[in-house]
Amino acid sequence: MSVKAHYPKALEIRELEQKITSELNLQGFILSRTIWGTSICSDEVNNSFNIFSRLFVGPGPFRFGGISGLPFTGKTGVMAFASHIPDKGGAFILYGPHIGVSNEGKTGEILRQRQDSNSTCCGSLIAGLSAIQNPSTIGEETASDYQQAQVVKMLNAERDQILGADDQVKEVTEKAYQKIHNDLKELIHDCKDALVGKKLYLMGGIVINTNWDEEDYFDIRNSEVIELT
Ligand SMILES: [Zn+2]
Repeated sequence: MSVKAHYPKALEIRELEQKITSELNLQGFILSRTIWGTSICSDEVNNSFNIFSRLFVGPGPFRFGGISGLPFTGKTGVMAFASHIPDKGGAFILYGPHIGVSNEGKTGEILRQRQDSNSTCCGSLIAGLSAIQNPSTIGEETASDYQQAQVVKMLNAERDQILGADDQVKEVTEKAYQKIHNDLKELIHDCKDALVGKKLYLMGGIVINTNWDEEDYFDIRNSEVIELT
């Protein structure tokens, strides 16, 4: 199985759902009083996680992520989310970048429905990788492509390590994970006044997409409860 060759501990979405349910229960969350959010790339392949909405209150999820999964909604997004948490309730956030693994085991691509050949996944991170491989192509930052400019900036800061890696696609994914993780933690810290007395559960990791007719996976990298007092 090609996904497990790259990410041996990755869980299928249904296994992840069971894990989330049991962890939240164990930590004393009442799911009927918990909302959820994601900081995952806008790519529609990631809507396979939408089934988790059945676990939580509201239509869900609140989407912090723009392309690549960076929490582009910023402080305004976290403040809004905080104000939506049910009375005496909590919140769950699933976050991370995504990477395709094709049936042939190739990273950074998958076969999508009604297409004859594979396409890039995550398209934003792979375009960012291509930009740092060819720095002369990096243009001025424009409002019309604001999010991708931030992705390129993030990857360019780690250029040497990325270009020296055996699998550069996996490496940009790891760098994106670190950045999403750090940014989210910082945003939560910055919005702590709005979160006092609310319980948060953060679960971070790498989303692994597969061909359209196969189940997707998630490789957990961090699980933590945050209770601000
Ligand atoms: Zn993407």
